[in-house]
This record gives sequence, C-alpha cells and structure tokens, in this order.
Amino acid sequence: MPIAIIGGGQSGLATGFYLRRAGLTPGEDFAILDAAESPGGAWPRMWEGLRTFSPSSSSSLPGWMMPSWDESEHGYPPRAHVVDYLTRYEQRYDLKVFRPRRVTAVRTQDQDPQGRLVLTGENLSMTAQTVISTTGTWERPFWPVYPGMRGFSGRQLHAADYVHPRDFEGRRVIVVGGGNSAAQILAEVSSVAETTWVCSRPPRFLPDDVDGRALFAAATARIRALEQGREHAGVAGLGDIVMIPSVREARDRGALRASPMFNRLTPSGVAWENGDAQDADVIIWCTGFRPALHHLQPLGLRDAHGHVPVGGPSKTQVIGDPRLYLLGYGDWTGTASATLVGVGPFAKATARAVTGT
Ligand code: FAD
Repeated sequence: MPIAIIGGGQSGLATGFYLRRAGLTPGEDFAILDAAESPGGAWPRMWEGLRTFSPSSSSSLPGWMMPSWDESEHGYPPRAHVVDYLTRYEQRYDLKVFRPRRVTAVRTQDQDPQGRLVLTGENLSMTAQTVISTTGTWERPFWPVYPGMRGFSGRQLHAADYVHPRDFEGRRVIVVGGGNSAAQILAEVSSVAETTWVCSRPPRFLPDDVDGRALFAAATARIRALEQGREHAGVAGLGDIVMIPSVREARDRGALRASPMFNRLTPSGVAWENGDAQDADVIIWCTGFRPALHHLQPLGLRDAHGHVPVGGPSKTQVIGDPRLYLLGYGDWTGTASATLVGVGPFAKATARAVTGT
C-alpha cells in the first residue's frame, strides 16, 4: 500500500478526504486502519452526557458540514450527534476504513530497496511508503502520581472511564482537574452527589457568550501571528472552560467552587499541605491525555523530552523519519488540530505533502 493511515477517527477521515480529493483511491492508494469496531474515533467512548463546546456549524470536517442541531432546545450537539456525523462522513466519501485493525508496531525494513515501513498487528502485516499516524489521545489517559494513591480505599477513575452521573448518586466525589472535562463532569455529578472540585491552579472560565468558535478564532490568529514572526497568546489568552448550559447551571447553583490541589491521598480521602482533610468515596481524575504512540516505539523517534519532533511545510512530518506524519495529537501537530474544525487545514497540508500536490 503506498499510504497507510493509522487511526480512523476525525483526523484519519479528514486526511482521507484530502487524499481522495487529490485523486487517490481509498483502499487502493491508501488504507485507513482503525482499531475500533465501529466509526467515530474516540467519540463513542466519551461519557453519555458530553456535548461539544461549539455549535454544529463550527464543528465540521472538510467538505461536508455537520448537520445542524437544535441549539435553542438543547444547546450544543451531544456526543451521539458527532458519532452519527463521523459515521456518515466516512460513508459519504467511501473512505473504506478497515476495522477492527490495530497496528501494534511500525518498523523500518533494512533490506527493502524501496525503503518502506512495515506495519504489524493482530491479523495484519502491511508495507507502506508513507505512514500517517492519527491515533489520538483517548487510549492514553494521564494519571498524575500522588502519595497515598494506592492506599485510598474508595474508587478512583479517570474521565476516560466516566459514563453517567447515576453511578455516583449519594456518594462523596472529588473531581480533579481544571479543564472542560472536569467542569462538565462536575456539573453532572454535582446534581446527584456531594462534590468537591480541586485544581492545581484556579479554573479559568470563558465569558458566557464565548464558545469554541472563539477558541478556534484565537488559534487561527495565533497561527497567522507566528507565521509573521509575532507573538500571540492564542487560546491560552482566553481561558479554558466553555460555559455550555450544564456548566452554567452548575455555577448558578454554586457547584463550581474550586479548592486548591491536595498534596496526598489518605485511606479515606485526600489531605492538603495545611493539614485540612476531606473524606471521599470516589475520586474522578480529569487530568488529560497523552498521545497514543505506542505503535511507533520500534522506530525510536522520541527525543530527550519524550516528544516526537515534527515540522516541514505541513507541520506534521516527523523530522527523524520523513516517511512518517503525525496528525491530530494537539497543538504540537498543528494548532487546534485536535478539534473537529481545526484538523482540516493540517489534514490538507499533510495530504499535499505526501502526494506532492
Ligand atoms: P480519535 O478520535 O481518538 O481517533 C483515533 C482512532 O485511532 C480511534 O478510532 C482508535 O481506535 C484508533 N487507534 C488508536 N490506536 C490505534 C492503533 N494502534 N492502530 C489502529 N488504530 C488505532 N473537539 C471539538 O472539536 N469539539 C468538542 O466539543 C470536543 N470535546 C472534547 C471532549 C473531550 C472529553 C475530549 C477528550 C476531546 C474533545 N474534543 C473536542 C477534541 C477532539 O475532537 C478529540 O480529541 C478527537 O477525538 C481527536 O480525533 P482523532 O481522530 O485525532 O483521534
């Protein structure tokens, strides 16, 4: 196969869209390999009540707008609407995603005169001239380490394993983290449980009338500024938490008061440096994700900081191995590329780089 895309979520689909538009045939000139059983990337695995932080008109991949959602009644589109959109998107462009196909290793082939990469996995062995990795971050939830974690007698879970607030009814729950996941989960759980919110720095709320569209505009302005050699705070200058209706409602009932970070867990809860302590039945760690790059380990591309340096005109080409591209993992693979609307420009640039168009 000339081109292999590892990962069939929004980043893989957007790249497939542009490869197809460049005249390549899905399944023949490029193959999208996805470990999941069904379409949608990480979205089907997110919690039930999750809503996007932008309206559907600002949550679209290239080529086809996300169908509108009744914003007057329910606010921003729910997770299921995104899953349906991504499912229909891959059908619409006939992207022929192969699933389930998990790539467990990408290796170089010393003896191959064509210098192809070899992809292997369960029931999978394939060579490719170019590999585009779009495996996202969902499969690598990040857990910080605190003293006493193992001794805590209650339940600890990551936001990646959170499903529905009913699981926590009547419990004492500590929600850790200062981003959108923490705010959204806290908003739901606080309606049925006694909650405490802890963050390592004070949470930064966007104004009520500002949503993901403003985040994207700021990210775009930052790209332009950097291209022109100017400084721009970008998204970081705006704040983090989008005040979607459920978060606003939780704030209005006083549930969004944040405490500073504790410094250890105890068998019955958490404790702060000043001696204060709080008992808890559950701790939900909304502490983010890291790139799921385990399959690239054999290539040994990580630098001293554990990053895989990327660059080139597309901003996604791996410097240590130009046959490889990384897309959609966060700002380091393209500003705002880990969002629905933000992945398009970098998918386009990546498709251009690999097809030479
Ligand atoms: P993913 O969606 O994670 O897809 C990666 C795919 O690769 C998966 O199907 C996986 O099965 C597959 N895969 C992984 N490893 C392998 C392997 N080794 N071999 C083969 N396949 C593999 N963005 C917005 O625009 N709006 C929002 O409102 C929004 N809300 C978010 C809320 C949360 C809680 C999170 C976590 C993210 C949110 N995002 C939002 C960000 C972004 O849209 C998602 O992170 C998105 O899922 C990234 O898409 P992706 O295709 O890069 O990765």
